[in-house]
Amino acid sequence: MTNEVGFIGLGMMGGPMAKRLIARDYKLTIHDLRPEVVAEFSDQGAGVAGSPAEVASRVETVLVSLPTPDVVREVALGADGIIGGSAVKTFVDLSTTGPNRAKEIAAGLKSKGITAVDAPVSGGVTGAKAGTLSVMMAGPKALCESLQPCLQVIGKHVFYVGTEPGQGQMMKLLNNLLSATALAASSEAMVLGVKSGLDPRVMVDVLNVSSGRNSATLEKIPRAILPRTFDVGFRTELQIKDIRLCLEQADQLGVPMWIGQTVREMWAFAESQGGGQEDISAIIKHMEKWAGVTVRESS
Ligand code: NAD
Repeated sequence: MTNEVGFIGLGMMGGPMAKRLIARDYKLTIHDLRPEVVAEFSDQGAGVAGSPAEVASRVETVLVSLPTPDVVREVALGADGIIGGSAVKTFVDLSTTGPNRAKEIAAGLKSKGITAVDAPVSGGVTGAKAGTLSVMMAGPKALCESLQPCLQVIGKHVFYVGTEPGQGQMMKLLNNLLSATALAASSEAMVLGVKSGLDPRVMVDVLNVSSGRNSATLEKIPRAILPRTFDVGFRTELQIKDIRLCLEQADQLGVPMWIGQTVREMWAFAESQGGGQEDISAIIKHMEKWAGVTVRESS
């Protein structure tokens, strides 16, 4: 693999990932719908393409980090999509797209001799900036090995999950269901603790060296909820997308999801209150409102 790659979707995750690649001397050809982002990357020396097809006519490997499965399909297989590119050989999807869509896209691209690799990531915006993401890669083994040096620029742990399209996506959905469960359940516990008179900072300190610790108590609550910044960097609507994709797989495979269903309802409630665009850490506000307390670090 050369150091010339395409990058489509330069948002909360894609932006910092692309910046890391530029800093490591990768020559990027980028595309995004937002002109301000395109201008920022152009200033940093990236080539700019007007469409996914144009990106895919300039480079052999195209990475994408896009919000929803429908957008990924449009960018990959749509009228002006990567499928129409004359140079592209490999499509790498860093987004959370779900196994079904990953398989559909892989089959569509294969008809034009393009190989799809699903490589969803975990670790949030902080991990994207620091290059410490986990990457869950699925696709032909030799091709995935050749992508390692590039993906190691964005990920500290680059896992090879399997050969079948969608296996990386499945792994990612399981991770995100657990992460969403941890945040919802930990938010409830924090609200209950504060209502009973406990200090939230003391609670976090106790939990993080005790058996209740998880990704919410370790990171999201101390960093974004106690200081009331609500800036984890992941939107509620994207969280719900991931939970839905996971439960869709459970339905398809006939696996019970007692807790997962409840977690979905909690996040769907948050969205129904107008919070789709809100940061995931804001879910605690609904529990606080009900209980009549605020989980805030005392000054
Ligand atoms: P985002 O909305 O911040 O970024 C998406 C980018 O894609 C934006 O810059 C947008 O302008 C661009 N875009 C949208 N439609 C496009 C199109 N048709 N053509 C070209 N560009 C287009 O989203 P994000 O938070 O960066 O998430 C990206 C993906 O990564 C999602 O699938 C998400 O589930 C996943 N993810 C996010 C996080 C997180 O913490 N934010 C963590 C892990 C995985």
